[in-house]
Amino acid sequence: MNEKDTIRIGFVGLGTMGREMARNLVEAGYAVTAYDIAPAAVDALAALGARPAAGVADIGAGADVVITMLPDTPHVEEVVLGAGGLIETMRPGSIIIDMSTISPAATRAMAERLASTGIFMLDAPVSGGPIGAKTATLSIMAGGDADAFARVRPVLSAMGTTITRVGESGAGQTVKLCNQLVCGVNLQAICEALALGRACGVDLDQMRAVLLGGSASSWMLDKLGPAMIAGDAGAGFRIDLMLKDLRLTLDMAQAQSVPLPATSLVTTQYLEARAHGEGANGNQALFRVYDRMTGQRAAGASDSQP
Ligand code: NAD
Repeated sequence: MNEKDTIRIGFVGLGTMGREMARNLVEAGYAVTAYDIAPAAVDALAALGARPAAGVADIGAGADVVITMLPDTPHVEEVVLGAGGLIETMRPGSIIIDMSTISPAATRAMAERLASTGIFMLDAPVSGGPIGAKTATLSIMAGGDADAFARVRPVLSAMGTTITRVGESGAGQTVKLCNQLVCGVNLQAICEALALGRACGVDLDQMRAVLLGGSASSWMLDKLGPAMIAGDAGAGFRIDLMLKDLRLTLDMAQAQSVPLPATSLVTTQYLEARAHGEGANGNQALFRVYDRMTGQRAAGASDSQP
């Protein structure tokens, strides 16, 4: 599988991340067949050169590789194992790459079932957000069969720059959930620093610039800090998706009897945000929890704040 023209790719899930990743595959020269339950998303990819599929059942038979980029575990299970799912249509030797963030245990169970039909399943979740998806600079952490991973490495290279096989099936999801733990706890630390600095009358833009130059620097502060300071809760990695990741992380930790006190605490903050109607807002809206706790808000915050 070295030549782009000999690898036929199916792509299922053309949302915030998937549409950019699929576009990068088309632009890299791969033959891509695309499907999403939202017809407009399929039309948009078709306009860029992908073949539109009418359903999941229309994807598997003609594909060497099928990539899934779906919200949560049940969506991936439906596409892979449901009626007309990939397990029924893909050929032995073909490869599913699930790039969603889902349960490591469910991933292992699916990979085992698929293996009995000769289909490989790699878990290859990503970090880097919509910007990383757009610029094909995602960090991709993969679990599963080493030979299958080597075969699809060129495909992954069209979507990301840091591409690492971290172990057997489920290991990619495990590492991704550890990544999310760091992101969530880090974001909460930034919220607390911004809330305290604001209450003390510090210039937050200047404080952010100073922190970025020292040991408190982070991706979250760099990429999300400006929106937090401006009170912009708009699009991005949704609060609802982060809550899903924190739930998966805590489930995994409980199964291993590992206490995660900081992760548990930040989960309650995200739940507070969702209870105030912030579920569809970007991750940075976690700072609005601190607006509510302190009775203060960003100068430019929109009036739509609940
Ligand atoms: P999204 O909700 O924007 O996109 C998901 C897409 O899947 C939607 O277009 C939806 O219509 C489609 N879909 C749902 N069920 C389907 C089905 N049965 N068949 C076909 N299509 C279906 O989500 P997203 O932000 O693109 O995230 C996708 C995954 O990537 C999630 O697991 C998320 O946690 C992970 N992720 C997201 C980000 C981010 O910043 N948004 C970053 C890294 C990882």
